[in-house]
Amino acid sequence: MNIVIVGGGLAAAKAAVELREGGHSDSVVVLAGEDHLPYERPPLSKGVLLGQADPDSATVLDKDWYADHDVDLRTATTADAIDLEAGTVHAGDDVLPFDRLLLATGSRPRHLRMADESGAPVAYLRTLEDSRLLKESFGAENRLIIIGGGWIGLEVAAAARAADTHVTIVESLELPLLRVLGPEVAAHFADLHRAHGVDLRLSAQVTGIDSDGTVHLADGSALASDLVVVGVGVEPVDDLARQAGLDVDNGVLVDELLRTSDPRVLAAGDVANQQHPVLGRRIRVEHWDTAIEQGRHAARVMLGLDAAYDRLPYFFTDQYDLGMEYVGSIGPDGYTDVQIEGEPASGAFRAYWLRDGLVVAGMHVNDWDATEEIRARVGTRADH
Ligand code: FAD
Repeated sequence: MNIVIVGGGLAAAKAAVELREGGHSDSVVVLAGEDHLPYERPPLSKGVLLGQADPDSATVLDKDWYADHDVDLRTATTADAIDLEAGTVHAGDDVLPFDRLLLATGSRPRHLRMADESGAPVAYLRTLEDSRLLKESFGAENRLIIIGGGWIGLEVAAAARAADTHVTIVESLELPLLRVLGPEVAAHFADLHRAHGVDLRLSAQVTGIDSDGTVHLADGSALASDLVVVGVGVEPVDDLARQAGLDVDNGVLVDELLRTSDPRVLAAGDVANQQHPVLGRRIRVEHWDTAIEQGRHAARVMLGLDAAYDRLPYFFTDQYDLGMEYVGSIGPDGYTDVQIEGEPASGAFRAYWLRDGLVVAGMHVNDWDATEEIRARVGTRADH
């Protein structure tokens, strides 16, 4: 059984490992678009950006692993097309036959046209190269304006402040992370960044960016910058799947077992929009843990496992001296109540989001033994 993996990020690498550990001895080809061994991205906005970790430490598996396990990893190789009828993937002049195909093409930063067309220095953060370039813009003489107060924006702010960079965050909502955490917990992150000297401009609309880096806001302010960092979310890299005729809607649509509309083809990680058996709805998760676990699960399904991927979404962040882990998903129906355990001002606490008494998500801040307990509580009733 020939298996082709298109991607070359975390989900792809974890799938390759699982295939070999699961006993698959036929061909495995990994088409990896970047000119790197598959690597993890979280350090790009944390240790690597802070200068505390070597970029090589983000590599998932060293080069020898692929050779030792007879995995044909082709870096700097982009899959151009999938022919479902012929059962082939095209990459340049190569035509690769597959019996099973895994799409692990990830996501890419959403672009802000106003910034791209401004002529000002603009940065996005997705790749190792992005992280290296961004790091060079840090320093006490430099002024960074970050558009978007999401996870990436806040982590970049924390790393930049560690290097004494002047940092302004422009966020269109009333609080950073408002949609993910709600006002009660998002306020904690706003306070954290203010306490570290970040100029937070909230409920702020960018109306224009000049070529000299001046950012204009709707309230009339004009903010000078040396670099504008855009962190306004990501979009799934689902073009290949769409062109092949697979069902696509905000990512590649997969069933509970991570199978696309063609059961020979699976998808995992940021690009997969899964019908989640526990949440009872579709969800596309753009986080590290899902890339790992879905990559593994998809490999097992390719080898014959007949079981749904039912792990709850999980993610983490590190900013300054705050470490946080979150399990669950509030979802489109929102929440009706938040329970905070502990004193946020102390720097360590837990929060649970409830919908009509049901715990839909939970997180801890600097309470590192709490994660499994939080995971166990999500999905239970708070009054029991
Ligand atoms: P990706 O990592 O995006 O890899 C997909 C790869 O496929 C890319 O290399 C791409 O070039 C390649 N590709 C695309 N199309 C093709 C093609 N046609 N042919 C060949 N190759 C192709 N998550 C957390 O939970 N916590 C964090 O703290 C955290 N921090 C992050 C910090 C940064 C800076 C970034 C960018 C992300 C962070 N994440 C974090 C998210 C996490 O890194 C992603 O969820 C994870 O990388 C997804 O893995 P993936 O394998 O699905 O996709």
